[in-house]
Amino acid sequence: MSLVNKLAEERRARLSAERLLELKQAELSAANRKLGRHALALTKQIDAKQAEVATVRDENEKVKSDLTVAHAKVEIAERRLWHSIQTIQDGFAFFDSDSTLIGANAAYLNAFDGLEEVTPGISYARILQLFTDEGVVNTEQLSPEEWRDMMTERWVSPNPEPFVMRMWNDQYIKLVDQRGHGGDVVSLALNITSTVRYEAELRAARERAESANRAKSAFLANMSHEIRTPMNGVVGMAELLTDTTLSEEQRLYANTIKNSGEALLVIINDVLDYSKIEADKLVLHPEPFDLEHCIHEVAMLLQPSVRDKDLTLLVDYDLFLPTIFSGDPGRVRQVLTNLVGNAVKFTKAGHVLVRVTGVPDPVSQSCAIHVAIEDTGIGIPASKINHIFGEFNQVEDERNRQFEGTGLGLAISQRLIELMGGSVWVESEEGKGSCFGFRVPMPMAEGPQPAPPQLVHNMRHVMVVENLCVNRAILEKQMSQIGAKVTSCATADEALELLDDTVDIILSDQNIPDLNGLELAKKVRAKGWSDIPFVLLSSNQREAQADPASKHLQCILQKPVPRAELFSRLASLTPPSGEKSKLSETIGNAEVMEPKPEPSVPVTTDAPDAPQTEKRLMRILAAEDNRTNQLVFRKMVQKLNIELKFANNGLEAVEGFTAFKPDLIFMDISMPKMDGKEATIEIRKLEAGTGQHVPIVALTAHAMTGDSDGILAAGLDHYLTKPLRKALIHERIFASAPKDADPVQPPDA
Ligand code: ADP
Repeated sequence: MSLVNKLAEERRARLSAERLLELKQAELSAANRKLGRHALALTKQIDAKQAEVATVRDENEKVKSDLTVAHAKVEIAERRLWHSIQTIQDGFAFFDSDSTLIGANAAYLNAFDGLEEVTPGISYARILQLFTDEGVVNTEQLSPEEWRDMMTERWVSPNPEPFVMRMWNDQYIKLVDQRGHGGDVVSLALNITSTVRYEAELRAARERAESANRAKSAFLANMSHEIRTPMNGVVGMAELLTDTTLSEEQRLYANTIKNSGEALLVIINDVLDYSKIEADKLVLHPEPFDLEHCIHEVAMLLQPSVRDKDLTLLVDYDLFLPTIFSGDPGRVRQVLTNLVGNAVKFTKAGHVLVRVTGVPDPVSQSCAIHVAIEDTGIGIPASKINHIFGEFNQVEDERNRQFEGTGLGLAISQRLIELMGGSVWVESEEGKGSCFGFRVPMPMAEGPQPAPPQLVHNMRHVMVVENLCVNRAILEKQMSQIGAKVTSCATADEALELLDDTVDIILSDQNIPDLNGLELAKKVRAKGWSDIPFVLLSSNQREAQADPASKHLQCILQKPVPRAELFSRLASLTPPSGEKSKLSETIGNAEVMEPKPEPSVPVTTDAPDAPQTEKRLMRILAAEDNRTNQLVFRKMVQKLNIELKFANNGLEAVEGFTAFKPDLIFMDISMPKMDGKEATIEIRKLEAGTGQHVPIVALTAHAMTGDSDGILAAGLDHYLTKPLRKALIHERIFASAPKDADPVQPPDA
């Protein structure tokens, strides 16, 4: 190759190298530029990061300082809390979920009396162990092991019940443990020693009060017994004395003794009843009883005062209302006696009307009874109406002061009615009269109610002569109930005018103005009506009977006449057709129909067995240790045809039961050697298996509720409270008269 070529070739190579160099330089500068841009961007980024880091650093610093402050606060709060926990008097501790003590205040730790082992870190099980081993706790009747088991079981339960521990020094600690969600337990140990002591003091005080109350009740029962026993002699003997021949003056004395004795008994009974109610000791004893009969009994009891004051006492018993209910007859009678007694007491003239209505509910077999006692007496000022139901409260004015009373009657009646689930109400107008009433729900007794009266044979037309329109209305209703036509007359003249052949019977009140009932009878006979039965309704039978004109009457009935009695008397008087002449023979022999005592619930008495001859007397055994009471009892039954034997104590009563075979036993409850209840239990044992059951009537001076429970539980059948009443003794005798003995005749028969 030539040199030129070589040079040219070298030149070309140099040129291409220079081009390449240029190219590379251009690339390099482009890369440099890119690098420069990148470096710039990086620098910016670094600046931004640096700014960020500075901010974060600042924030960090702030957080750090906040944290320090917060930490300081937490420390203060913790210190304060702990300080507070330390200062509270009750123990405070908390355990972690493994039952390890995390912390406890001094009060908690003090319970361990300086045991150093009890510090945070100790387990609950070890604490329990120390409690028993060191005798810190009084485990009472449990052994230490039983106590720990019991406490452990309690501790692991999800919600431990508060528990009271007795400590060695008789301090009482109540543990209240609360388990948190994480299983930690906060334990409070409250010192309740003073509360426990206070409770014990209260309990002791209550026991003392209760025993004082029991002593008061026992005192009342004894007082009742002690007062009633001699009162039995006083009232009973005075009653018997009035049955003997006495001069006017002597009769006055005897009656005063009797009345004062009875008044004293009323006061004693009121005070006793009120004490019983106060002590919540009064319990009702429901049994089947005849409400209508009960009301008439009360009316009979009040008859003497009604007669003395010349009042009219009327009973209007709803004709369609059942009469046999389940209730406490004694308490119902007590309320009625108080309300009707008050009506009679505070009425000088006019009438007292007892109206009984009610709505039977066949579904509940109960009846809403409504009894209203209306009088025409002095009335009560409106301002005093509420006051009189308070204890010992009376209307205190001149008029009221002349009447006797304790002011307890209404308070007792109200409480009794409330006890029966009812309520008492009163309406009154001063000077015009009052109307007291009560509503009470009463279940109807099981078994049949007395059958409604039938139309009395041959008595289709009754003439009623009565000037008092309330009573006329009652008689009209009663006569219409038996299907009779009624001609009502307000005066004797009217009766004489309306009398004709169609009248089958005349029912006349004694006290009608102008011509009284007896004079009317005389006139009726004088006018030729000799065979019309004439029945006189009188508030004073004896007086009516003593009147010569009584020979014109067939029958004198004591007002208010119980419905059943009226109907049965009318039935017995109405002659069968064609026998009018026979009836006229009875004229001049007017029968005095005193309401006969009946048992509360009608009992079927069988007709006496034939033959009637050679019958024995009814045998009665009376167990009574007190000689005076024996005498009183003997005198009260002396007119009855019975055979009476006395036993001086319970032992003799049991012997008498075997030897004398009584038909009825009257049993005093408090007797020496063997009391009445024990004697009855013995008698019932002797009777066991023989099918025999002699009725035993308790005679007791106790008037406390609860006595009767014990008495009836001992096997006695009835219960009479002293002082004994002749009528009640007779009632029990008539009710138990045996079939194979001579029928016991009432003294007046
Ligand atoms: P007591 O009759 O023993 O005084 P009560 O508690 O039965 O006690 O009656 C309280 C008072 O209510 C009577 O004293 C009398 O003032 C008044 N009172 C009660 N019933 C009647 C009545 N029917 N008419 C007028 N006042 C009456």
